[in-house]
Amino acid sequence: MHIELTEMLRCPEAHREEFLVLSTGEMSGRMVRAGVVGCPVCQKEYEIVNGIVNFSGGGMRDAGRGPALTHSASPIPHPDSQTLQALLDLSGPGGYVVLLGFAARHAVGLAALMGGIHFLGINPPPDVEELPVLSLLVCEKKIPLRDAIARGVVVGSESSGAAWLAESRRVLLPGRRLVIENETARPDGVTQLATGQGLFVGEKR
Ligand SMILES: [Zn+2]
Repeated sequence: MHIELTEMLRCPEAHREEFLVLSTGEMSGRMVRAGVVGCPVCQKEYEIVNGIVNFSGGGMRDAGRGPALTHSASPIPHPDSQTLQALLDLSGPGGYVVLLGFAARHAVGLAALMGGIHFLGINPPPDVEELPVLSLLVCEKKIPLRDAIARGVVVGSESSGAAWLAESRRVLLPGRRLVIENETARPDGVTQLATGQGLFVGEKR
């Protein structure tokens, strides 16, 4: 996890938002490879192992590491990175883009097109690894981020149920784009801009 991401995190427990406290162990440049994130409200502690922050707890190192692959992945991610960048309507550096579930696979392609943006992979598939431009977070309950911090959100089809879509909308900045790899998705509070080719594109109201 990138060290500056600490102030964007929130505890997944149902209580007021409060900044979490980071205790760093091993660092690699600006990335925290090992450490603990603590919540000052409920006192829960979340371990960072191999750079991945595990908000699911339970002490199992691989708990909640995304759904198991049931079939081999397509070698070319769909949609391609240029299409996705255009749909997200992102220009200019800075800020965060959230990639939920299997959408974390888009991080490398998008980062090559868009410098200066940090990507946040939530519940990534097992073949996605942390990068200087990609922090990985695992949480079974919700997206462990504060409200309205993301310049864009891409949701993998396996994560396009109502609860995760509500979470995706919550972390998105108003007026910014949500791309869902499921064209039948209709998230609340999101204005539909386009559907087709397996995708829903909307803007947060
Ligand atoms: Zn807490």
